[in-house]
Amino acid sequence: MKSMHRIRVAAAAEIAAGSTGNGNGNGAGGGGTAAAGYEILIGPGLLASVPSILSRCAPAYRYAVITDHHVAELYGMRLARGLHSAGHRVETFAFPAGEAQKTRETWAEISDAMVETGIGRDSAVVAFGGGVAGDLGGFVAATYMRGLPFVQVPTSLLAMIDASVGGKVGVDTPAGKNLVGAFHQPCAVVIDPELLRTLPPEHLRAGLAEAVKHGAIADREYLEWIEEAADELAAGDAEALSRLIVRSVEIKAEMVMRDERESGPRKLLNFGHTVGHAVESLSGYRMLHGEAVSIGMVAESRIAERMGVAGQGTTERLRRVLSRLGLPTALPMTWSAEEVVSRTRNDKKARGGRVEYSLICAPGVPAQGIDGRWGYAVADEVAKGALGAGAAGVR
Ligand code: NAD
Repeated sequence: MKSMHRIRVAAAAEIAAGSTGNGNGNGAGGGGTAAAGYEILIGPGLLASVPSILSRCAPAYRYAVITDHHVAELYGMRLARGLHSAGHRVETFAFPAGEAQKTRETWAEISDAMVETGIGRDSAVVAFGGGVAGDLGGFVAATYMRGLPFVQVPTSLLAMIDASVGGKVGVDTPAGKNLVGAFHQPCAVVIDPELLRTLPPEHLRAGLAEAVKHGAIADREYLEWIEEAADELAAGDAEALSRLIVRSVEIKAEMVMRDERESGPRKLLNFGHTVGHAVESLSGYRMLHGEAVSIGMVAESRIAERMGVAGQGTTERLRRVLSRLGLPTALPMTWSAEEVVSRTRNDKKARGGRVEYSLICAPGVPAQGIDGRWGYAVADEVAKGALGAGAAGVR
């Protein structure tokens, strides 16, 4: 095996008890929560080790692999063959690829198919694919027979560096993104960067947007490195991508450990997502999540500047990195600022009728919010101003 990184996410109970070392994840049959924390394993070629990782971290009588048709076609046989050779019983449940499938309907179809196939409480789920398979597969695992253990095997950059870590699972509804869901921690996350060789360039770029977010909210040097390495990253250079995956996963893991259920600093991971989710939902999910988040980060940074939370130049700094990566940074003419702001009202972060935004003070410096709440209630007029035509030139 080539170089492998191991990052441990300790559970809240473990941190409170002061014992964050050396657990080996939880087993199956424990109600499906990673009460003992979990490991994130990162290394080229790790797909071949999934069978042994399952035996160790999520031992089960049977495994339900939940994936999309596209990933199933590319890697499904390889994974299933490996699992069969290791003596595991496996059933694959595949759904059509794309965000439009991350719905209660697909959740119901997969759950029904699992019942018909006889998947029982002695089983575990393998969520195999991009963020959609991870969120959907994880939500099936959270709810099926009151919860099965599950392992995340992310295959897109976005899922590797963000969606697979932290246990947020769920589906979209016509009113908005991720409005139905749960916290359900995986038993392990297995990341094989070699799988990125087949990822289409636009999806690679969309994943890079979440890495920019990690830099923006937590690590200015990392953000600077992303800008320097932008060409290699956008071209899919394996070494640069591996370095990016490790640093982004470290940042995400650190944040979810500090705040497992998002009552405090974990909210920062939503930077760019209030506007981003609204834009993604308005596009009928034709715009990629990372593209929408890219537009969202620029708009929300501008909101922070206008509210005096962020220093001048913060937005321009982010806009430059994102455009170097080939990501969109402005709202397409198709939607007005009014439409976007009105859609943000469906966001989960709305509190007492006002929409709450997670903001930054400067690149790499998070804003703690009024009273340390890690969020700011933003007046509609300020949000509209930051999104409106010509906003880029006006402070
Ligand atoms: P996706 O799952 O739709 O994957 C994008 C496309 O890439 C799909 O067509 C998929 O089939 C294809 N694909 C995946 N891996 C591939 C590979 N190795 N080779 C070739 N094609 C491959 O979307 P995504 O961008 O991975 O994830 C977006 C989702 O993640 C959104 O629903 C978003 O809400 C969610 N998300 C969740 C969290 C969380 O904390 N749970 C965080 C960030 C994003």
